[in-house]
Amino acid sequence: MTVLHKPLAPDATIGILGGGQLGRMLALAAHELGFRVHIYSDKKDSCAFDVVRNSTCAPFDNWARLADFLNTVDAVTYEFENIPAETAAFVAARKPLFPSADVLATTQDRVAEKKFVNSLKIATAPYAPVNTSTELSAAFAKIGMPAILKTARMGYDGKGQVKLDKGDDLGSAWRSIGEKPAVLEGFVKFEREISVVIARGADGKTIAFDPVENVHRDHILHTSTVPAKITPALAKEAVNIATKIAKALNYVGVLAVEMFVAKKGAKRELLVNEIAPRVHNSGHWTIDGATASQFEQHIRAVAGWPLNAAKRIGKSVAMTNLIGDEVLGWEKLAKEPGASVHLYGKGTAKAGRKMGHVTRVKI
Ligand code: AMP
Repeated sequence: MTVLHKPLAPDATIGILGGGQLGRMLALAAHELGFRVHIYSDKKDSCAFDVVRNSTCAPFDNWARLADFLNTVDAVTYEFENIPAETAAFVAARKPLFPSADVLATTQDRVAEKKFVNSLKIATAPYAPVNTSTELSAAFAKIGMPAILKTARMGYDGKGQVKLDKGDDLGSAWRSIGEKPAVLEGFVKFEREISVVIARGADGKTIAFDPVENVHRDHILHTSTVPAKITPALAKEAVNIATKIAKALNYVGVLAVEMFVAKKGAKRELLVNEIAPRVHNSGHWTIDGATASQFEQHIRAVAGWPLNAAKRIGKSVAMTNLIGDEVLGWEKLAKEPGASVHLYGKGTAKAGRKMGHVTRVKI
C-alpha cells in the first residue's frame, strides 16, 4: 500500500543520508522549494555539507547521533543504496523514510534484485548465484563463457567485478572478489546501454524522463545522451519496464533502471542490468535539459507533493562527467557558450572520482 502522507510545508526539514554529489544536488533542489535540509554522512569531507546549514558527521550505526538527527527532520531520504539495513530500520521506526527500507533490501542484493525483476516477467542477463568456489564451477557450467562475476552486495562503478573468459582461473577470480556471495552473469553483447529515470509520487503517479543512452569508460559513466538512439516502440517498452518496477516496489521518489539493448534476430530486446533506488548520474542532464529535474521530482515525492510535469527541453541533451583530472579543464568549459558546468566542490581530483559534469542542450 502506498503510504500517503500529509505534504510537508515549506520550512519543514528533509533529512538526507549520505553526503556526496547526489546529496548535494538533492539539497540544492530542496532549498529551491523552500525546505531545510539536514545531511547525515559518515565522511568528514562530504561535499553536500557545504550547501546546508545542518549537518551531522557520524557513523551510520551511531544510534545516539542518528536519534538526534531524526529529532530535527520531518522526512528522510538517501542518496546511496548501501545504507545498512539496521540503520534503515532505525530511521523508518521513527520518521517517514522514502524510498522504503523494503526497497533497499531488494536493491542492495544483486540476486534478490534479479529475482524480483524476473518475477515481473522482465528479462535480465542469465545469472546464477554463487556462494562458494564449488558453486562457481557449477555456475559456469550453466551460464557459459564469457561471463562476469559480481559481488552480490556493495558493488558500484565496476568495483567487485571481474570478467571471465575461457581458460581463466576460477579460483583466482573468486579470490579477487573477496570470496563473498556473488552472482555470475552471462556477458551480454549489447548494442547500447540505456537507462530510464522515473519518479513516482506518494499518490502513485509516475512520470518518466526520456530513455537515456549511456556510455561507460573504465566502468564509470562517461556520457549520457537523450534521446537514446532507439525506436519509439523500444523507448516505450523501456518506460513500461521502469514503471512496472516502480509500481511493484511501491516506490516513492526517483528510481533509475539500467538496461542493455541487445539484438535478438532482427529485433531488439531489453535486459535489465541494475536498479538504482535513488537519483542517478544518468539523470543529471535534467537539471539543465528538462522542465523539472530528477532532484526536484525526488524531493517533491519525499515531501508528499505532486510530481511536476517533466519534459525534455530541446532536440537533444548531452551530459559528460568530469572524472578525476578532467575537472582541471574547467576554465575552457567556463568559456564555452551554452555549456552548463556543475562542479561538486570535492577538492583534490583523484583518479576515477566524479568531480563534476557538464551539460549541453541542443535546442
Ligand atoms: P554494473 O556495476 O552491474 O552496473 O556494471 C557496470 C558496467 O559493466 C555496465 O554498465 C556494463 O557496461 C558492464 N556490464 C555489467 N554487466 C554486464 C553483462 N552482464 N554483460 C556485459 N556488460 C556488462
